[in-house]
Amino acid sequence: MDLLEKLRDTFASAKTRELAWRQSQLQALQRLLLENENRIYAALQQDLGKCQFESRVSEFDYVLKDIRLFQKKLARWSRPRRIGTPILAQPGYSRIVPEPLGTVLIMGAWNYPLQLVLSPMVAAIGAGNCVLLKPSELAMATSNLIADLLPKYLDTHAIAVVEGGVEETTELLKQRFDHILYTGSEAVGKIVMRAASEHLTPVTLELGGKSPCIVDDETNLKVTADRLIWAKFINAGQTCIAPDYVLVTPELRPKLQAALKASLARQYGDDPAKSRDYGRIVNDRHFRRVLSYLDDQGAALIHGGESDAEQRYIAPTLLLNPSLESSVMREEIFGPILPIIEMTSIDSMLRFIKSREKPLALYLFSSNADVIDRVTADTSSGSVCINDAVIFMINAEMPFGGVGNSGMGCYHGKWGFETFSHLKPIMYRRFAADAPLRYAPYTKLKQWLYNLVSKL
Ligand code: NAD
Repeated sequence: MDLLEKLRDTFASAKTRELAWRQSQLQALQRLLLENENRIYAALQQDLGKCQFESRVSEFDYVLKDIRLFQKKLARWSRPRRIGTPILAQPGYSRIVPEPLGTVLIMGAWNYPLQLVLSPMVAAIGAGNCVLLKPSELAMATSNLIADLLPKYLDTHAIAVVEGGVEETTELLKQRFDHILYTGSEAVGKIVMRAASEHLTPVTLELGGKSPCIVDDETNLKVTADRLIWAKFINAGQTCIAPDYVLVTPELRPKLQAALKASLARQYGDDPAKSRDYGRIVNDRHFRRVLSYLDDQGAALIHGGESDAEQRYIAPTLLLNPSLESSVMREEIFGPILPIIEMTSIDSMLRFIKSREKPLALYLFSSNADVIDRVTADTSSGSVCINDAVIFMINAEMPFGGVGNSGMGCYHGKWGFETFSHLKPIMYRRFAADAPLRYAPYTKLKQWLYNLVSKL
């Protein structure tokens, strides 16, 4: 692949290691965003019916903030870090020197099609790598825009875009990269990891899954409902960390149900189809997939359910008590359907959550410190957010990534810098004071001395 050869040559030239080059590319990316803000909003509107405010907060500003953070911290993060050196290696000192990995591949998903490729790219450039980007073909307008704009602003010798679907991805995955960061489904994650193993290429897999949300009896219902509805229905439910389903006791359920309905009316009006703030499903296949969950046996439709195939509109929908074995409770919903499941106690909720794969995010709404401690200590998930959902994404100090089936590795802020760096330890020794303690012959005196110093 000629393109890849070019990127590798650039990396070998050491140009991308220069802090000045990294800063110049971050600045160019910032300019790209600021000079094309409206085109970006139009592409996101075309792909997902995303309203401008959501696009701004969750995609445009998100990447801008990442760039600013890297601009500010890059010099500090790249600096060698002094660490201790044991007495047996004295005189000397040790450091950790972050070095770029080489040429990396970043493949994004379609649901946040700008942020999911550009935010990892900021980290990869910040760490001094050459980058090949593969945006999702399902968000075609955004993919086209990225492919059009990047070469106009960024160093094409070091940063390139390849567009395409399964065929192009398959071809890309045959190539050797120094790291692959993939965002998408578990099924394709396995394909990526299998291909990467051929070259022993390390991978970061940002996958999905079913993120549970427990609503405890002791909670502020209005705030809980507002936050849950926002987190579930932004981007029409097509968010990897959206609360997938809600667990609640039978006693609280009617009150929670009423609060959720009231919040839906406040946020999207009586007819969400007319709300300019409510998104659409990305394509016909996903439209049919999400709607099929409404046919699941056993669930009561307690709100919504309306749809319009032409617009790929599915109303915010609440389901009550679908069977735990139904497809809506087995598959990641990734759409605007929120099942509410009654369970009698926090214990039974924890048992259920732990019987399933480890989720990308876990949410708990509770004012009870004991419940909070129990749930956080007794479950494993990529992240946890107490008394809110999704919003934890904006904290760049928190590593973002899954555990178990929800993914491996992480990025965001400094964590992204480290994902795309090799933290190279270097020990520096001096020639002076070369104690012969470790050299043969291992005399009694040397052993006695060793016993003495090894205790220090
Ligand atoms: P996907 O895995 O279906 O597709 C991603 C890309 O992989 C496609 O664009 C395509 O180019 C490629 N691909 C598909 N089939 C392939 C094959 N057989 N061989 C090679 N390449 C192939 O994922 P998606 O539908 O874009 O995203 C949805 C999933 O992503 C959900 O599970 C969601 O939770 C997850 N997600 C995770 C995060 C995160 O940050 N953890 C963010 C967004 C989405």
